[in-house]
Amino acid sequence: MNDLQAKEFTRRDFLANTAKLCLGVALSSILPSCRTPEPVTDEPTPEVEEPVALVPEFEPAYLELHRTGELEERAEELWAIMGSCQLCPRRCGADRLGGVSGFCRAPGTGLIVSGAHAHFGEERPLVGGGGSGTIFLSHCGLRCVFCQNYTISHLGRGSERSIEELAEMMLRLQRGGCHNINVVTPTHYSPHILKALDVAAGKGLHLPVVYNTSGWERMEVLQQLDGIVDIYLPDFKYWDSEMAAKYSAGAESYPELTREAMLEMNRQVGVAKPAKDGIMQRGLMIRHLVMPNDVGGSVRLVQWIAEELPQDTYVNIMAQYTPAHRAYDYPEISRRINAEEYREVVDGARSVGLTNLDVQAYWWLED
Ligand code: SF4
Repeated sequence: MNDLQAKEFTRRDFLANTAKLCLGVALSSILPSCRTPEPVTDEPTPEVEEPVALVPEFEPAYLELHRTGELEERAEELWAIMGSCQLCPRRCGADRLGGVSGFCRAPGTGLIVSGAHAHFGEERPLVGGGGSGTIFLSHCGLRCVFCQNYTISHLGRGSERSIEELAEMMLRLQRGGCHNINVVTPTHYSPHILKALDVAAGKGLHLPVVYNTSGWERMEVLQQLDGIVDIYLPDFKYWDSEMAAKYSAGAESYPELTREAMLEMNRQVGVAKPAKDGIMQRGLMIRHLVMPNDVGGSVRLVQWIAEELPQDTYVNIMAQYTPAHRAYDYPEISRRINAEEYREVVDGARSVGLTNLDVQAYWWLED
């Protein structure tokens, strides 16, 4: 819920939302959940008779590059980087072209996909009525100790898929009425994604691409995505490099590189503003997960956003932190957050002038 809308929340809204929640729960028993995606199946996403229409004049960024052949060239350039892999800030140099796995454990040039389906648990402007066309990619170069998807990101659960199969997943999600193609944890598979986009664009794909990343990205790779990605959806997890190193496998460069990445993403796609139909088609949407005991340095982090990015930058202040995987080895992150911790971050974001907050736990803000 938007920050301003939260103030106008009424009992009627509550009842309406409760009804929607019940419907959502019912749907979730039918549709795979966001946090526990199902393995890829060959089951087609149910098709709708009338695909959900985008605003007519919208054209996703990558189509022009597909037409000129530059999309294919960029994909090949990223692919070549896997020869001594530098795709993510680990820069571990694994010879993925020679079949070697690096720190992220992606199998050489192989592509492992955990699930692909319409997802109704993402931010509202991404979900709309048709859902976000989410493709969960396995493995991860960041490897947070509290990852709630660790079976996918750490253990690599999923099925090996070809570029053509990835392209077909995108097209199937489009036929099913999704509003976007949402690639989750894309960094180590960015060459595969671009190749698949090129194939899918040639077969009629026209949905915006959501780059759903940890935020820990290399500038050189981001610049290759310029003019291809329509919506950047990065996490901004930590302000402090010691915290990043402690909980994300030594990634002490996380705060610095993620700040640089946010600036570059904003330069490329600008402030996220929904179209007339309420659906997001382009822009930067930042996620910040509030963690217990201020592990994320949340107030300083939102202050930086207000100072360095436009005041109406979309910031989702997330409340759903749940200890998972190895979080119980660290007492300070072995519990959920409380209302006071959440309120402090929202108040901090408001006090520095951020105007486009997605305040998920708005009920905690009521007196
Ligand atoms: S993407 Fe994987 S293989 Fe490549 S640098 Fe990062 S951790 Fe190493």
